[in-house]
Amino acid sequence: MIRRNFLKAGVAAVGAVALGRKAADAAEGKFPVSHTEAEWKKLLSPDQYAVLRQEATERPFSSPLNANKKAGVYNCAGCDTAVYSSETKFESGTGWPSFWAPISSEAVGTTTDYKLIYPRTEVHCATCGGHLGHVFDDGPKPTGKRHCINGVALKFNPGAAQAS
Ligand SMILES: [Zn+2]
Repeated sequence: MIRRNFLKAGVAAVGAVALGRKAADAAEGKFPVSHTEAEWKKLLSPDQYAVLRQEATERPFSSPLNANKKAGVYNCAGCDTAVYSSETKFESGTGWPSFWAPISSEAVGTTTDYKLIYPRTEVHCATCGGHLGHVFDDGPKPTGKRHCINGVALKFNPGAAQAS
């Protein structure tokens, strides 16, 4: 019984932390592109909405962008801002498009995500706040970072690998 109560308390605390971040983001109004949830629902497909606005994770190997090796720029599917480049994309074997760096340090922002038992680094578009994925410390050189990104949160623009 004690153990069960402890687990319940743990889940409640995790929920509170997650809500705290959302509330803080909204209160600060810190994103240049912002819409109401109703507007986002109209602008995005159901899958895009679930990932970008509700921090869902797409099924591994479900995105055609996972195996995409073409040169080009990956834009945020929420606001069409460039967030990643083919120049930093690598095959991680995880089933999600993976990059060792964003296209620029200003393109994305990170927060700590307590959805699982252990904290993770959540990464989102710095322009609209849309959730993109998570960052892990097991990536390749030169950064050692692995940006594990939901393909549904990205729009690929083939061509030059840097934003114009
Ligand atoms: Zn965006």
